[in-house]
Amino acid sequence: MKIPLLDLAPVYRELHCDLDAAYHRVMDSGQFLLGRELAAFEEEYARSVGAAHCVGVANGLEALQLVLMARRLDPGDEVIVPAHGYIATWLAVTYAGARPVPCECDERTYNLDATRAAALITPRTKALLPIHLYGQCADMAALNALAARHGLFVLEDAAQSHGARTPDGASGALGHAAGISFYPSKNLGAFADAGAVTTNDAELAGKIRSLRNYGSRERYHHDAPGLNSRLDELSAAALRVKLPHLAAWNARRAALAARYLSQLAGVGDLVLPFVPAWAEPVWHLFVVRTAHRTALQQHLTAREIGTQIHYPIPPHLSGAYRDAGWKRGDFPVAEKLADEVLSLPISPHHTAEQIDTVCAAVRSFFDQR
Ligand SMILES: *Cc1c(COP(=O)(O)O)cnc(C)c1O
Repeated sequence: MKIPLLDLAPVYRELHCDLDAAYHRVMDSGQFLLGRELAAFEEEYARSVGAAHCVGVANGLEALQLVLMARRLDPGDEVIVPAHGYIATWLAVTYAGARPVPCECDERTYNLDATRAAALITPRTKALLPIHLYGQCADMAALNALAARHGLFVLEDAAQSHGARTPDGASGALGHAAGISFYPSKNLGAFADAGAVTTNDAELAGKIRSLRNYGSRERYHHDAPGLNSRLDELSAAALRVKLPHLAAWNARRAALAARYLSQLAGVGDLVLPFVPAWAEPVWHLFVVRTAHRTALQQHLTAREIGTQIHYPIPPHLSGAYRDAGWKRGDFPVAEKLADEVLSLPISPHHTAEQIDTVCAAVRSFFDQR
């Protein structure tokens, strides 16, 4: 039995009637950008998050970038980002003309650590940009308190956390604004690139509405140098079909994660995901750590079990930031995570038997050692 890390085809098999109807509705309408489907999706997504506004954009990277552009950062302004995570978060800061300032993560949750972030704040610091990594919210209560003390803007990278919650609400409504990705493999994914910004700030939402469309509120009047970053009607229509299923899909992921957590407890040197009592993660990925990662990955590959590494090279060591002057040893926690993390198969369309097979294969690897 082949077990892929992720298979996106079953979603179409599950929802093909509604998806086909949505496709025909858009094709018949003749309107493909900034139309009725987008307006309806924005309203429905904002409501699902508990935010006042949602602005659909072309992808998650530009969602983050547009928020920072709307904040009008100056060159030399600093935005604190997690040292462990996906490079898009850092690139959004770079493209907005500011400087990403990496911060070591909490060793247990792998998320931005408020205590360490506090030590990095300078007069140039303008914002905190936590990622809700692997589907679990960063400690937003601590980060928001820190931001309030220093007058900082808080932008959530909610690309991996659709539906994740804390006692204060849902991911996407926990800071001043959130950048969301609907990349096909995310918990809520389109069939192309897509993204959104959510916020309770009407003025900010208005600026992003303009900036996503060449900085224009009125045709051929350009108030600011914006981007071309629009969420298209076909994607919006598909996302409207999928959104009502998100909660059930996330519940399915949680059930599979619980299976992993009970069957892999105490196995070898595995470090399993840590969930704080207040967190309600949505298990975008199920990530374990081991010092024997390469051998474990080979063992699973030989048994046709798909795995992946999220992420093998911390952004500070990537070629994209070659000229920034960071070196190995600057962020030891992030570097250790990059060396040890391994993502195991999880999705709403995996079966319990498949997860049991993966667990048995992982156990057999450590039994042999
Ligand atoms: C996917 C992702 C992004 C970028 O989203 P795109 O839609 O691919 O541009 C940003 N941050 C994180 C944490 C992501 O996982």
